[in-house]
Parts: sequence; C-alpha cells; structure tokens
Amino acid sequence: MNKKTLIFLIILSLFEFSHPALSFKAATVHPLPGVVDLRILETTDLHASLVNYDYYQTRVDNRIGLVKTATLIKKARKEVQNSLLFDDGDHLKGNPLGEYLARIRGIRKGKLHPVYRAFNYLHYDAVAIGNHEFNYGLEFLNAAVKGAKMPVLNANVFSVKKKKPYFTPYVILKRKVVDQNGRKHHLKIGVIAFMPTQIMKWDKANLEGKVMAKPMVDTAKEFIPIMKSKGADIIVALAHTGISYGTYSAESENAVYYLSKIPGIDVILAGHSHNVFPSSVYKNSPDTNIETGQINGKPVVMAGAFGNHLGIIDLRLKKTNGQWGILKGTSFTRPIVNDAGTSLVKRDKRLYQLVNPEHQETVDFINKLGL
Ligand SMILES: [Zn+2]
Repeated sequence: MNKKTLIFLIILSLFEFSHPALSFKAATVHPLPGVVDLRILETTDLHASLVNYDYYQTRVDNRIGLVKTATLIKKARKEVQNSLLFDDGDHLKGNPLGEYLARIRGIRKGKLHPVYRAFNYLHYDAVAIGNHEFNYGLEFLNAAVKGAKMPVLNANVFSVKKKKPYFTPYVILKRKVVDQNGRKHHLKIGVIAFMPTQIMKWDKANLEGKVMAKPMVDTAKEFIPIMKSKGADIIVALAHTGISYGTYSAESENAVYYLSKIPGIDVILAGHSHNVFPSSVYKNSPDTNIETGQINGKPVVMAGAFGNHLGIIDLRLKKTNGQWGILKGTSFTRPIVNDAGTSLVKRDKRLYQLVNPEHQETVDFINKLGL
C-alpha cells in the first residue's frame, strides 16, 4: 500500500467516525426489497373427515376432522403476510358421511357437497383430485365438484373420447404478494396435480373406456415447460402420491422422489400414503433432509390424513433481473393432537355449523339403522 492510499484510508475512517449518521446508515441491515416470504399450506387425504367424530364408535374423536385443522390453517395464515392453501386429494370418500352422501342421499341439484362447502369457506386456492374421488363414479364426482369455487385439478387422467385431460390439468394463479419492505409484487404460481395410474385397476368398472391414466412423471415433463412458457414464476405440484425410493418405473404408485428430480417443479405437496413428511421415518432415506423437509433439494410436505396434520412450506423468493428464484424452502407439519392424544386446537365453530347438517343426517341415519 503506498503512502497516498494510506492517508486516504485514514481520512476516510475519520470521516466515518465523525459522521455518525452516515456510518449508522451503512451499518443498518434493512429487509431486502424484492424478497418475498410465501407460505404454502396443505391438507391431504381428508377422506370426508370434516367433523372430529368417529361414526363407527358414535363418539367425538379429536384426532381427526377438518373443523380442527381449520383452526391451524387460520393461525398459520395469521403468522405471515402471504399464503396459499391447497388440498392434495382423496377428500370425498372414506367415512360414513362420505358414503351416506354418495350412496343414500346423493347430491341434489344446486346443492353443495359439504366437503366443497368447507373448501369454499376456507378459501382454498386449488385442490387436487385423488384416486378415491373415482370410487362413486364419474357422474357423482362431476356433480360434487360443480360447486367448488377453486380450481379442481388433475393432469394425468385423460378423456378417452376427447383425447385431452379430463380435468383442468393446471392453473397459473396470479397473486399479489408483499415483500419484506412492504412493497407489492405480482407473482404467478403454477399449480399442477397428479395421481397414481393404478386408478385404472382400482376403479376399472367406473373408468374403463371413459378415461385413461398417463404416468405422473411423463405428464409432469410434458406440462412443466408449457406452464413455464405461460409465465409461471414458481410451480407447485399437488402430487397425490407417496414417497418411495425404489427403482423408478412409469407405473410407480408413489412418485414424489422421481417428481422432485424434474426441473421446474419447485414445491411438492405429497399425499396418498397417509404418512407425515418430514418425520423420522425418512431419516435415513437417500437425498432426503428431514431437518429442512427437502427431497433432492426441493421442499416436500405430507400432512398425514383425516385432517390430523396441517402441512406447511415456507418459501423465501427473490426477484433478480425480473425473474423469481427460490432462496430458501423449508417444510414442517403441525398436528391437531399431541402424542398423548390431547387436543392442541379447538374446532372452528363456523365451519362446524356449515357442515353440521350433513353430519347430523349421517348420525341420524346410523342411529336409524340401529348400528
Ligand atoms: Zn389416495
């Protein structure tokens, strides 16, 4: 360092010390403009568990029920500025309420299925169709989803006649989000949904000749570039499929691990197998970090079943040169009861009122049968 430079640096340091306002400004860490925190919430495999009630034992069961998860949803939303809520499928069938509505009472014209009434009330941003949604036939399903105010998605089930996706394959949600500085931004969130191809075996009688299922990974590879070309800043996969680490096959029932390797898919909401991810079950699994909740570096969450957990993914996004990138993505779940079975949340009163008519009809029906 020459003499001139040294004198310059000394003068500069004196200047900093003698001007506290100036040095203060340089030292303060401001939230970064263009950095957006986005929370993504998941329910999955509700199986018509709207109320915290066991219809077989005819008694309250606090380990299940969307009326409980709803309280967690509202709390999780309040903690952040930007959030989205999705259901990952298998929401219409799996308990006596679902059976009663599909096989006994039916969906009357202009009437809403209580599951979709609940989804509307909670303002879900989109929901996926699960394999069990086919169990009551396509006609019932089409009648039930009619009242849904949010997109109902699946990309890998195709109409045989029309040779195109039977449902809406994906959507690009346009949302205003607020960055850490309070500045508003427009974000385009691509949402696509998949389910196991095994539906063709499981629901052969309902589906044969009407629809066919394409492999999930192939379908993702086909649609992701299209969604990107249509301006999706990030892509969320509502993957109604579990996590397995075996050798890949096009017919793999649990395809999350393989989907996580596809470029362009940023976030995976998993389901179908009723497990909880992240959890210690996956501790020694390859390319899996149960601390951050990532598989192959992508945040993944699976929220158990029957509303027993809420899945949460916290993303930190940053816009650079007009392009959004993900700085950080972590996932975790919150349960409605602790390990001892003690309730951690009260039920959402308004939601309980909204679904109570069909709940009560189901209870009355069971009583009449003398079960
Ligand atoms: Zn399923």
